[in-house]
Amino acid sequence: MKAVSVSGRPSRLAQQINGLKENPSCLNEPYEEKLKAFLSDEDKLHLFDDLTKVNPVTTTTVLKCLQARYATEVFYTNAGCTLVAVNPFQPIFYLYSPELMREYHMAPRPRELKPHIFTEAEQAYRNVQSQIEPVNQSIIVSGESGAGKTWTSRCLMKFYATIAAAAASSSQMDNDTVERIERRVLDSNPVMEAFGNACTLRNNNSSRFGKYIQLQLDGTQLLTGASVQTYLLEKTRVTHQAPCERNFHIFYQITKGASKDERQEWNLPERTDFFWLPNYERNLEEDCFEITKDAMLHLGIENATQNNVFKILSGLLHMGNIQFSDSVDESQPCDLQDNAKDFIKTATSLLGVSEEELLEKLRIRTIMAGKQQQVFKKPCSRAECGMRRDCLAKVIYARLFDWLVTVINRSICADSSGWTNFIGLLDVYGFESFPVNNLEQLCINYANEKLQQHFVAHYLKAQQEEYAAEGLAWSFISYQDNQSCVDLIEGSPASIFSLLNEECRLNRSSNASQFQARLEKALSSNPCISRDKFSKTPHFIVSHYAGRVSYQIEEMVEKNKDPIPAELIQLLQDSKDCLLQQLFPVEKEQPDNKSSNRASVVTVVSKFKGSLDRLMHILNSTTPCYIRCIKPNMDCQAMTFKKEEVLSQLEACGIVETINISAAGFPIRIPFQNFIERYQLLRKLHPSRSEQELYINTYTFTKKKKGLGDTEDNADTLRCVVQELLQNLVPEQSA
Ligand code: ATP
Ligand code: MG
Repeated sequence: MKAVSVSGRPSRLAQQINGLKENPSCLNEPYEEKLKAFLSDEDKLHLFDDLTKVNPVTTTTVLKCLQARYATEVFYTNAGCTLVAVNPFQPIFYLYSPELMREYHMAPRPRELKPHIFTEAEQAYRNVQSQIEPVNQSIIVSGESGAGKTWTSRCLMKFYATIAAAAASSSQMDNDTVERIERRVLDSNPVMEAFGNACTLRNNNSSRFGKYIQLQLDGTQLLTGASVQTYLLEKTRVTHQAPCERNFHIFYQITKGASKDERQEWNLPERTDFFWLPNYERNLEEDCFEITKDAMLHLGIENATQNNVFKILSGLLHMGNIQFSDSVDESQPCDLQDNAKDFIKTATSLLGVSEEELLEKLRIRTIMAGKQQQVFKKPCSRAECGMRRDCLAKVIYARLFDWLVTVINRSICADSSGWTNFIGLLDVYGFESFPVNNLEQLCINYANEKLQQHFVAHYLKAQQEEYAAEGLAWSFISYQDNQSCVDLIEGSPASIFSLLNEECRLNRSSNASQFQARLEKALSSNPCISRDKFSKTPHFIVSHYAGRVSYQIEEMVEKNKDPIPAELIQLLQDSKDCLLQQLFPVEKEQPDNKSSNRASVVTVVSKFKGSLDRLMHILNSTTPCYIRCIKPNMDCQAMTFKKEEVLSQLEACGIVETINISAAGFPIRIPFQNFIERYQLLRKLHPSRSEQELYINTYTFTKKKKGLGDTEDNADTLRCVVQELLQNLVPEQSA
């Protein structure tokens, strides 16, 4: 809730308040007792449901508190404006039951209940109802891989589906319609997770794409639909999986779950070793084909279309087994390995393309040169053939995923007259730092920098500026502003992105060391970039807000170009498969298409920056709320809290700074009118004082009373203190 500004009041009032702040003796502090208890009695640490009550606020005290709570199975803790969620790594059924959802929904003041994601969800829902600007809401869920972002988003969606059903029973809308909407919205999860999630070293169900889902509400607060926006699918996973990791779940689902008939139709024998299906033997709960198919059906994807999708996926698996070997004569195309011919046959029949064409296009490159655009053909090396095969698979999968998102949106999105407001849930990949990092990590960490910047701008900065505007003395807390890091990555005139794009635009053949030299020359004045003097591989180190990350330069420019040879696209355009025809439509050529294409190369980073800019634009137009998920141990063990691992996450998300600002700030922020209505009786006690004076004094008082919630119980205390305040006020001079 946004506090009503009392700016415009004479500064005299502010002076009185500030004077009072320096003389806390008049305040009777139960807070002090709590503090003593905190320091002396560790048994009670778990009672601190808001980290702003911990004193002193350091990562160590915060850590102790979270650990004590975790030990007593309390997983949610407020940290001022943020909710910290520590992953239990085991199902706690009662915690997400419909009964508990209703409890939070029906509570007169949900903030008085224990901290929970449902408090945040309900608050966002009420904010929409009370029409306080900005009306639309965003719940931003962050944390590292495996911390629980997707789980949390799923629970939030279930919460809204549940309370929307409750709202529907008392509304005009018929229950069947509501049930269908809710069901479809929830069904989008298993489908998107089947196609976009995979088992990684850090999480068995890791989201390999970012997601922003807008839950659409009509004027009566009913859930009428939703829309999904996705970001940067990790499509390289289709063809390359790190050791001990797996491909997207859907590939395992079809190979394990297909019926006898389906196997025959999709050409999937019981036991075939597919190169692109590593760790096949592991049985994971995500391998649930039936659930995916059911959900697709609910979303309006008929069986015939589903068959078509799975046929293409099977075609990709067969394509992965097409292996090349060096040809004896370099002027001739590469040879095929032993049984590759069978796989080509199956893959081409499943993808509806010609066998000869596929072989030719994978093994022979077409080059257009000269003013007349003469066509030359050149046999590819064995490595190039493999790259072209991978490229073909990746582009098919990426377009299939985008198509799926479009179909889901078509199915769940309300038409424009059907909704007025939305609550957005953001679930994006957390900060990443691996032994080797490349363009993917740069993009992911850039997204995290932008979100951190949004957090700083919206909360830390806004709060401090608001105090200044209200004339309240306030020593500014310094916070880590990550502007220079954001500038380093995306700024102008020179940044990592602009230099990468420049390389792609000029299409020059420069090696990694040359690009490193260019980066260093152009960006040397930025304090956030450095390099390891002892390292021989071309790289650069970026000092992110969450830590330093070293990025390997090798392949970065090529990854940014993400080239798809035109002849491969044409092969797919010529496919007889109707879904592939839809995914690769024949584009009408514009008269001066070629020259304009050359001027503006669409690179991976430019596309990603564009989609992120649009996301930030939406986030900036909403009232945000933050949930920080914490992974208590790296092995995903149930109920195991490893201090060092939690500590590094707390440091990375700047939790101490956040708590400090919240703790030093005013815990209660009530709109002026609400305050007046609620504390009318105080005015009766002192009719000579203006309402605004009462408000501002109480407002200041509540700051002193950290720990004081916005409750009826506190009204008595408030009343006493306001009386005390009024007695101490210097006589009014002039209005
Ligand atoms: P990634 O960035 O890799 O997608 P994530 O932050 O989305 O990771 P999740 O997939 O949501 O992580 O969570 C990882 C696992 O942790 C879940 O599969 C689930 O087993 C467990 N988990 C997360 N949150 C909870 C919770 N609140 N209660 C019980 N288990 C949980
Ligand atoms: Mg996830």
